[in-house]
Amino acid sequence: MKTQATKLNWLSENLKELGSKGLLIQKRVIESPMGAKIKVNGKWVLNFCSNNYLGLANNPLLKKAAKKAIDKYGIGPTAVRTIAGTTKLHLKLEEELAKFKKTEAVITFQSGFMANLATIPALVGEGDIIFSDELNHASIIDACRLSKVEVVRYNHTDTKDLENKIKSKLPLNIPLKSKTLIVTDGVFSMDGDISPLPELVKLSEKYNAILMVDDAHGEGVLGKNGRGIVDHFNLHGKVDIEIGTMSKAIGVVGGYVAGEKVIIDWLRLRARPFLFSSAMTIPDVAACISAVKILQKSDKQVLKLWDNTKYFKEKIKGLGFDIGKSKTPIVPVMLGEVKLAQEFSKRLFENGIFAMAIGYPTVPEGSARIRVMMSAAHSKNDLDKALEVFSNVGKKLGVIS
Ligand SMILES: *Cc1c(COP(=O)(O)O)cnc(C)c1O
Repeated sequence: MKTQATKLNWLSENLKELGSKGLLIQKRVIESPMGAKIKVNGKWVLNFCSNNYLGLANNPLLKKAAKKAIDKYGIGPTAVRTIAGTTKLHLKLEEELAKFKKTEAVITFQSGFMANLATIPALVGEGDIIFSDELNHASIIDACRLSKVEVVRYNHTDTKDLENKIKSKLPLNIPLKSKTLIVTDGVFSMDGDISPLPELVKLSEKYNAILMVDDAHGEGVLGKNGRGIVDHFNLHGKVDIEIGTMSKAIGVVGGYVAGEKVIIDWLRLRARPFLFSSAMTIPDVAACISAVKILQKSDKQVLKLWDNTKYFKEKIKGLGFDIGKSKTPIVPVMLGEVKLAQEFSKRLFENGIFAMAIGYPTVPEGSARIRVMMSAAHSKNDLDKALEVFSNVGKKLGVIS
């Protein structure tokens, strides 16, 4: 025990230091289904934290589909997809997703994080080059590292900077046979701004680069019936790879890649999380199929989400808050200092509003904020209640007058 203690001292010291800076993550335990209201640490609050954009996480049709599938197939596939993990349902989900995304084919993974880790190292390797938006998601950053490729970060959504960097790297420094990948988040999760995809398409065509967009926060949000960012900009067939997650608007868990059949066929042979990690569970797959069918059929929830978003953004700006450059249902209420954001979030919670403070290192120092997530599950009353509490706390803390 004693050697163990000294061997791991650095861990307790680090934890103590983070604790003294108020940087430990507080335990928040949920004791209810995900919805507009949730029970957190024993208290019912209005939920403005989840990525449950369309309220599907507790949808009766999804729950029914999951239960029915459990009765027929059980729960875990207990194998990777290439051995005994591919049920009829897995194929059905891929088929439905391909229809929904209007792409030739789809391959599913256990999560969106996994989909990125699976895809980038399967497509590029030593000698190739990646151009990556500086604010891309952690899973893209890790996937780039795994691929052992030179990564050039371009300034956030700055296509001029991207082109300059491409010009300075291609073709002089790079052998002709090598591949170029441009990768970007579709919607950026901390600011709610949108990638300039039409210009990225032009650059990818001009410089013969593979273009990949991670649509995690665009799924179910942007485009007709929530088809995502490619549909939003009407760029079908022009973006090589779309990464999707079923853990956000779809309300379940899982990830996928949508694109041309050659890409998907290649990933089925080379994507390591497909080959070496077990398939999605049966109830998850069944619930996802149900969710995609709901979206195919109706845009009611998507329209409600946008209606709520417009209402809330207008009102909160009217109160005098700064909400940055958000173009989506992600509403960052900018506060500046971490301490202020944490205090703000604490007071919101005391008054029945659950919205997260986000600070460094997730966002740059001095740009701490409360990130307010809109959902179709919210009623106008819920939004009004939140606005009232925001107004009171904002005045008490001197953020607005
Ligand atoms: C959330 C997110 C992911 C991870 O998706 P999971 O399905 O939760 O693993 C990947 N990329 C982006 C851009 C995300 O926002």
